[in-house]
Amino acid sequence: KAPRAYDTEVLWQKDKDHFIHPFTDFSVFHEQGCDLITGSEGIHVEDSHGNRFIDGIAGLWCVNVGHGRSEIAQAMAEQATRMAYFSTFNNLSNAPAAELAAKLAELAPAHLNHVFYSCGGSAANDATIRLVHYYFNRLGKPNKKRILSRRNAYHGTTYLAASLTGIESNNWDFDTLDHLVTHLSEANCYRRPEGMSESEYCDHLVKELEDTIERIGADNIAAFIAEPIMGAGGVLMAPKGYHKRMQAVCRAHDILYIADEVVTGFGRLGHFFASEAMFDTQPDIINVAKGLSSGYAPLGATLISDELYEVLGTPQRKGGVLSTGFTYSGHPVSCAAALKNIEIMQRESICDNVREVGPYLEERLKTLAHHATVGDVRGSHFMLCIENVADKTTKKLLPVEARVGDRIAFEAQQRGLIVRPVGHLNIVSPPLIWDRGVVDRVVETLDESLAATT
Ligand code: PLP
Repeated sequence: KAPRAYDTEVLWQKDKDHFIHPFTDFSVFHEQGCDLITGSEGIHVEDSHGNRFIDGIAGLWCVNVGHGRSEIAQAMAEQATRMAYFSTFNNLSNAPAAELAAKLAELAPAHLNHVFYSCGGSAANDATIRLVHYYFNRLGKPNKKRILSRRNAYHGTTYLAASLTGIESNNWDFDTLDHLVTHLSEANCYRRPEGMSESEYCDHLVKELEDTIERIGADNIAAFIAEPIMGAGGVLMAPKGYHKRMQAVCRAHDILYIADEVVTGFGRLGHFFASEAMFDTQPDIINVAKGLSSGYAPLGATLISDELYEVLGTPQRKGGVLSTGFTYSGHPVSCAAALKNIEIMQRESICDNVREVGPYLEERLKTLAHHATVGDVRGSHFMLCIENVADKTTKKLLPVEARVGDRIAFEAQQRGLIVRPVGHLNIVSPPLIWDRGVVDRVVETLDESLAATT
């Protein structure tokens, strides 16, 4: 490896003066500056001081095959050297984009055979809603515009994706496109109304959907969008059977079902696509990003059913075209990265590893429940979270100023582990190559970190 050549002080200053960081608390940032991540290998990342950490968040739910895969870098370099970029508009294409679309159709549920490329998850969701509106317009149902989303959902940060997002604090002081989106309740078993069984809770949520459709009118609703497990909103687990029942109601009312698998896809739950394999649903559209290229290059993909494609893919009247797409739709270098990423996942049976080690990770994390603040440990496979509370019985939260998630994450980082604080939560969403030995080390570190915090 090349020797480190970073002048940390100078870089910090440049960063502080010029880089507007996303999702950043500026009061903390201006005081503390930033941590420079300068290297990565396997399950580890390294900072500019040479400290090494176990990556407990796969970068940001995305480095699924782990860091430092030179095979992916090589595939990208070869493609960039041969043909780094050319348009895919009109009749133009490139080999990696075509290969990848066919590969995705092969891996996805049987009816999803058509791929629209974008540059990430937000853009995939945004493009999806445009395509859904276009679809209903072409069917002569122009009033079907409203999208049902859920409180605490995270669907991204373009204007439309941020409007679909239901995490209130994400949109503080921002505007949202409220005329297009209605938010239903989150599906959160841990905080379901007191005294309700899981199945009663499921009935309650399904009824809310039915009531909402009745109130707004199915003729005005285009689609329902949902993450199979809500991620950034706090790894929220829906009651058993929820997605299947929600889909059945949508189908009965000609409302499309969009699964946002930006996090749950590409192995995090042990399958390339979780919707059908784990939740017994057949979405009309599935969106993926992140793990699709394991974060080695920006890429998002919208997988569209044969039925929708029949309408989207037919010629427009008066010689018009499907006028949507990005300069970088089907970017050859990103698609080459994704193809190699998928090849690695299949060759190394990474989904099998998640199905084998994931339940062990969950079981071991649950042993942390003895700590005073740990109210809930939940999630599935490599998508897990610890919820910290002030009182385990009432589930009352600690005051925001306690910054409990931040403090636990800080203690963990001091001990060589990065986990993600989100308010009072700590999220664990590692590269999918952790083995049982790593899980033991991580749980030990979290055990010490919680003890040091509480
Ligand atoms: N959808 C989900 C479920 C996500 O978790 C995210 C990002 O975390 C997005 C969409 C947005 O993806 P991106 O940040 O690539 O735009």
